[in-house]
Amino acid sequence: MSAKKKDVPNCIFCKIVSGDIKGEIVYKDADVIGFVDISPQAPKHILIIPRDHLVSIEDIAKKKPSVLESLMTAVPKIARKLKLSGGYRVVMNSGKDAGQLVPHLHLHLLGGRKFHWPPG
Ligand code: 5GP
Ligand code: ZN
Repeated sequence: MSAKKKDVPNCIFCKIVSGDIKGEIVYKDADVIGFVDISPQAPKHILIIPRDHLVSIEDIAKKKPSVLESLMTAVPKIARKLKLSGGYRVVMNSGKDAGQLVPHLHLHLLGGRKFHWPPG
């Protein structure tokens, strides 16, 4: 089945996967894509998302556990491509208390500056 047929209506990230909405794509494989965040919070801010529509971390175990491996193995490949040799931060917001705005599972890969702990 093509990515297009799996689109969830009105899901912005499904539309970026299918190409209906343009994304600045920096990485693609069979399971995930990585593209530049429209409102970057660091000099490098990439969103890595599964091609399949999963809503949040809550969906991973019940719908597609293998997506975790796909997302996380993409991280160092993209980090190398972006020359983030000094390190980077990975964030996944899950649910409203975490501030998740887009209900399609995504991992934020942030780099190019120093990060603080604890996060806000
Ligand atoms: P969340 O708060 O859900 O973890 O993060 C959603 C992220 O998606 C935000 O950082 C926001 O800037 C980004 N975003 C929302 N809509 C678009 C879009 O249409 N294109 C791109 N490239 N990023 C988007
Ligand atoms: Zn979606």
